[in-house]
Amino acid sequence: MCGIVAYIGPKQAYPILLKGLQRLEYRGYDSAGIALLNGGLILFKTKGKVAELEDYLKDKNLKGTIGIAHTRWATHGEPNQTNAHPHFSKSKKLAIIHNGIIENYAALKKELTKRGYTFDSDTDTEVLINLIEDIQQNENVSLEEAVRISLNQVIGAYAIVVLSQDNPDMLIAARKGSPLVIGVGEDDYFIASDATPIIEYTKNVVYLEDEEVAVVKRGEDLQIRNIKNRKKTPYIQELEWNLNELEKGGYEHFMLKEIYEQPRSVKDSMRGRLNAQSGIVSLGGIVDYEDKMLKARRIIMIACGTSWHAGLVGEYLFEDIARIPVEVEYASEFRYRNPIIDENDVVIAISQSGETADTLAAIEMARSKGATILGICNVVGSSIARATDAGTYTHAGPEIGVASTKAFTAQVTVLTLMALRLAKLKGTLPKSRFMQLLNELEALPEKITKVLDDHGITERIAEEFKAASNFLYLGRGYNFPVALEGALKLKEISYIHAEGYPAAEMKHGPIALIDENMPVVFIAPNKGIYEKVVSNIQEVKARNGKIIAIVTEGDTTVKDLADYIIEIPETEEMLVPILASVPLQKLAYYIAILRGCNVDQPRNLAKSVTVE
Ligand code: GLU
Repeated sequence: MCGIVAYIGPKQAYPILLKGLQRLEYRGYDSAGIALLNGGLILFKTKGKVAELEDYLKDKNLKGTIGIAHTRWATHGEPNQTNAHPHFSKSKKLAIIHNGIIENYAALKKELTKRGYTFDSDTDTEVLINLIEDIQQNENVSLEEAVRISLNQVIGAYAIVVLSQDNPDMLIAARKGSPLVIGVGEDDYFIASDATPIIEYTKNVVYLEDEEVAVVKRGEDLQIRNIKNRKKTPYIQELEWNLNELEKGGYEHFMLKEIYEQPRSVKDSMRGRLNAQSGIVSLGGIVDYEDKMLKARRIIMIACGTSWHAGLVGEYLFEDIARIPVEVEYASEFRYRNPIIDENDVVIAISQSGETADTLAAIEMARSKGATILGICNVVGSSIARATDAGTYTHAGPEIGVASTKAFTAQVTVLTLMALRLAKLKGTLPKSRFMQLLNELEALPEKITKVLDDHGITERIAEEFKAASNFLYLGRGYNFPVALEGALKLKEISYIHAEGYPAAEMKHGPIALIDENMPVVFIAPNKGIYEKVVSNIQEVKARNGKIIAIVTEGDTTVKDLADYIIEIPETEEMLVPILASVPLQKLAYYIAILRGCNVDQPRNLAKSVTVE
């Protein structure tokens, strides 16, 4: 998530930091800020773009050869000037920039509040800098030591840089889970979230490892220790990538990068919300509305496009494990169809951007009829996040590719957490089953990594079917929405006509289309009504359709029938949608590439649909 830049050396820091922030703009952000040290510590920040920060700083004194700068993508507290980074400590002698999420910030904040600390912002970050200051003062240790001790108390993900008024020749940087790279110049150092702000100054970089703390001192060698105070030898590598490659993390497109980010983004969606070992699942944002959800006559999920597909998976989940009736509606239809809805209904609005115009209008309509409105959005502080009574963020990080990938799996992850939470409260699952599901959910990120590593099979399938003019995607139960989403992905970026269907419905129409030119993608894991799906596969085979099947590792039945199989690891039936949608995203991506399409910006489509 978002961007960090820092500089220490003989040059003026501000121009380097500003340019660095501009280089990181591609990552998506909502506010920006900068802190410089020149005798005193000065700090400026604004909501909005880096250009607005630059404008705001036009007539300010920005001297200083050491500084930190940040583009924030809000996770805790809405995107506004106060919540933007850097953040001061209480004494205003320390400033911090941070990317990531401090999961246990609420507990730490409570402790610090008892000790007299007050907080200007709603961020988890401001808690961390005050924790560092508190430790430094009370334990009378160096800043470096205080950072280390604090980080031992932190649960979550972080990349941080700390600037201190009392240490004008030093920056402290640390990471866990969020990336951080240090550029080693002739007589200066650069620190950044990725190498894009660094590459024009030096090609020599050190990638910090998890739980490492770097002390970056003017005119001295780089020192790295881990948070347990064990000394590490900095490994300096030479950068080989150019700027464009760097922005996309070495991937050719944002979409591919985002597909490959899913082990991380799904983990981030669960961060601080799931502890399988202790049997805990909780969603802070909606605790006050749990009772309403449990007592609701029904839950109505409203969404558009990919989010609507996530809602459909949600319907299966909520009804299956929490036994709460759910309806899923296209926001654009719902808003105009005079539905029967009142204060006994709970509406969940799902939107990646949180700006979808139809969903916003549907929210207003439902509110006017007295329903409780919750939201699931990726963008903190977005219009939908503000228009709802409460909600849960997906924390997938900014999604740049127009065709949604990691936001979808994050939405499904959050819906799974919600369903499990409600099931627990309602007692609809036996304890052992509940624990089993939590464990499986926790294991998902690793399984996604396995799915991604498919030894080139999706590329080979793409090569074979790149010239097709139609595709059919079939699945049943939990995998019917996956079929819809797979077809949508292909349509969006390759412009091949594709339809998703419940596999058994095929015989009521689409079967007429099947001949040797029709590729049919089956989502056929060994779960649910597997045998029935196998029969549907037989039906396609009998008509010479080309079969591509997503199957559970080790499956032999479908393997014998299909032209191609893509294996996914064994998991619970209700978690298959998250695993199975990944190869479908890849398939769409590779077909689109082979057809020469612009996958990141497909024709006629916009990332957030803010018009009706
Ligand atoms: N959790 C922090 C916040 O909400 C950092 C967000 C980021 O990574 O930019 O301010």
